[in-house]
Amino acid sequence: MLIDAHCHLDFPEFDDDRDAMFERARAVGVGHFMVPGTTRERWPAVLALGKRADVTISLGLHPYFMDEHQERDVEALVQALDAHPEVRALGECGIDARFEESLDAQWALFNAQLRLAKSRQLPVVIHCVHANDKVSQRLRQLDLPAGGLIHAFAGSPDQAWKFLDLGFVVGLGGAVTYERAQRLWRAVKSLPEDGFVLETDSPDMPLCGHQGQRNEPARIVQVCEMVATLRGETAEAIAAQSTATARRLFGLS
Ligand SMILES: [Zn+2]
Repeated sequence: MLIDAHCHLDFPEFDDDRDAMFERARAVGVGHFMVPGTTRERWPAVLALGKRADVTISLGLHPYFMDEHQERDVEALVQALDAHPEVRALGECGIDARFEESLDAQWALFNAQLRLAKSRQLPVVIHCVHANDKVSQRLRQLDLPAGGLIHAFAGSPDQAWKFLDLGFVVGLGGAVTYERAQRLWRAVKSLPEDGFVLETDSPDMPLCGHQGQRNEPARIVQVCEMVATLRGETAEAIAAQSTATARRLFGLS
């Protein structure tokens, strides 16, 4: 069984065919989905999906949506964690250095969520774009007890291992299907078998050959096959390793 360790199935892109999307995923062996929250406004939709037996959820405030976050949202996050023990992780949170103008605010929001994850002993789901070195430095200072996921990892072998040394795992998604990702391919080959999970980041991060299309969890099969090819293992072995690691990270039975 495959787990899509990071997919935004609450997004409106799936409103018209959500059931069919789950069905297509199940048909190719994807049996569980980790859905992270992105904005306070969207948490109710994430919590609603979390009632499904095949969905695990986290809640957080995503750096891509800085314009939507408000001062009181971190306090609201504390209350949401109190009210919803089914929330298994904190995130999606992090740093996206493509948006330079909001970097100070991003760090303030990220730090607040990291401290909250530490106090609740929750794993963290991290979005980290052009910021691997600064984020791993910060994580080293904080020493988070439950580690977490560096989702959609796209860095070097050295950057991957810095995260692994801190008790984190890296998420491998559509980026690995592009031939230009040579540095990432080297990282994928260097990972230990318990150092990664497979993900799609649906509806984002289209795979090679599907550019411009909505992404969906069924396509994780192609990610799995690519990772298997790169590592010289079978797709079944990669699926089993990823699923075991996702279970351990998010405490799934
Ligand atoms: Zn995401």
